[in-house]
Amino acid sequence: RGELRCICIMAVLARSVLVTGSNRGIGLELVRQLAASPWPPHHIFATCRHPEGPRGKVSVDTVNVPSIQGAVRAVDSHLKDQGLNLLINNAGVSSHATLHSLDSQEMLSVFATNVVGTLQEFLPLLEKAAKGAGKEGLSCSRAAVINVSTKLGSIGLCLGVLQAPMYPYRASKAAQNMVTRCLAVELQEKGILCAAIHPGWVKTDMGTEEAPLMVEHSVRGILTVLASLSQDTSGTFLDWEGNSLPW
Ligand code: NDP
Repeated sequence: RGELRCICIMAVLARSVLVTGSNRGIGLELVRQLAASPWPPHHIFATCRHPEGPRGKVSVDTVNVPSIQGAVRAVDSHLKDQGLNLLINNAGVSSHATLHSLDSQEMLSVFATNVVGTLQEFLPLLEKAAKGAGKEGLSCSRAAVINVSTKLGSIGLCLGVLQAPMYPYRASKAAQNMVTRCLAVELQEKGILCAAIHPGWVKTDMGTEEAPLMVEHSVRGILTVLASLSQDTSGTFLDWEGNSLPW
């Protein structure tokens, strides 16, 4: 009967996006869905630590500072004066160490990947994007750092410790959450939004086959949440459905 339907598509309208750990799992799906979106970014930097593989292009090993600095130069030379709009720190490692099996080496190496990562190096490119965007307020299309976190790192929830102790993983993600909060405070003045996002329990190498959520579904949710972020939601910890989580 001539019914007119209005379909609202929330899209991340960032001109440029960089995703770490994009050779598999959630990172790969983020790149796939961004590239296939109705308004894809002009530049998608799909980074991984071994770009000689079939899908990688820019090398970023998040525990290797020269590799990150090389990527910053490569990205800057592509983007010229525009800067980078959206950095998604997705690369991460898990650890099943228990109170009895963990050692300091494992704690530190998980911390190096999950917390230190690309914390500092891309900030000048994000600042450049924030200044040049000609936009007010905070958003992922202007300039943003999104850290892929996990509910397991929530001190407030402290979920399932006896079933899944995972001390190094949980502690590293709790530390990453603190970094996100601090960045949000410090970078607000510079026009850069920061938030942490929990992707759900997702079927990937890390999440295992047991996980209830398909990666396509999780990433669709994550991208919808990213598109909705603003000044009011910078510095928050959200899940892939947009629900607020306790730090
Ligand atoms: P996967 O294990 O499938 O993928 C992890 C990715 O991180 C790979 O691309 C891996 O690269 C990359 N990576 C690890 N270490 C480094 C490094 N030093 N430098 C660069 N890249 C690195 O995990 P997921 O896709 O499931 O996880 C992605 C993110 O989501 C992680 O931060 C994880 O903590 C988080 N998360 C996942 C959940 C899940 O259920 N799957 C639940 C909650 C959070 P390589 O192939 O070279 O190892």
